[in-house]
Amino acid sequence: MTSVFLEDLDAETYAAIVAKEGSTVIIPTGATEQHGPHMPLGVDAMLSKAIAGVVAERTGAVVAPVFAYGYKSQPRSGGGNHRVGTTSLGAASLTGMVDDVVSSFLGQGFSHVVVLNGHFENYQFIYEGLDNAVSRARDRAAGANSRAVLLSYWDFVDEATLEQVFPEGFLGWDIEHGGVLETSLMLLLHPEKVDMSRVVDHPPAKLTPYDIFPEDPARTPASGCLSSAMGASAERGQLLLDAVTTQVAAALEGELPLGKTTLEVS
Ligand code: ZN
Ligand code: MN
Repeated sequence: MTSVFLEDLDAETYAAIVAKEGSTVIIPTGATEQHGPHMPLGVDAMLSKAIAGVVAERTGAVVAPVFAYGYKSQPRSGGGNHRVGTTSLGAASLTGMVDDVVSSFLGQGFSHVVVLNGHFENYQFIYEGLDNAVSRARDRAAGANSRAVLLSYWDFVDEATLEQVFPEGFLGWDIEHGGVLETSLMLLLHPEKVDMSRVVDHPPAKLTPYDIFPEDPARTPASGCLSSAMGASAERGQLLLDAVTTQVAAALEGELPLGKTTLEVS
């Protein structure tokens, strides 16, 4: 096999992978969402796909085509759904898409599904679709051993890495939209898609502990970023990538009897 990405495989190679005991598919999920003036709209999808690729190589899993649209961006975690460049799904659509795709993978014979999330607002709606799909699959004799794992990649950054990446102090994942985390990972994984000369230097967003409807664009920074990416670097991206991929791979190996042999299919 020359690629861990399903979109690159022919159907016969795919069929051989699916049939292996412990076969595992990772579905990366992201969004189409503005990320300030210095990064493209596809950051969340690009990062989840790239991280899933590294984890797949370590664990013997394969990676499904990325979910490029996500649930509505919110002012307190993604700048807000009103911003130009942000194009989102509603809850029922995202839940239904996850249910449909996961059901299809389990029906074709994958033993395990991992959803590796890269867009904060997606989580609960993926949870719903994944829970429903796995429950139904386990009711069938052929899918009785189906298992799944849902995770957001930033939850795997440990304290020691946080201290290295944010030496001035870490202020929370909610304001990292378009900030040091995502920009550092992009500088490592897709440097040609980042323009550091356009990074806006402003203090972190001051967010209310509640939401209002309709959204008020004046309450979040005009840049569209919830904190400045001035401290971003590819070196910090490497620290983040290593921490995340090592610990995600370890978690998957602990939770799922992974089919280590899938990479030997040629
Ligand atoms: Zn993002
Ligand atoms: Mn996002």
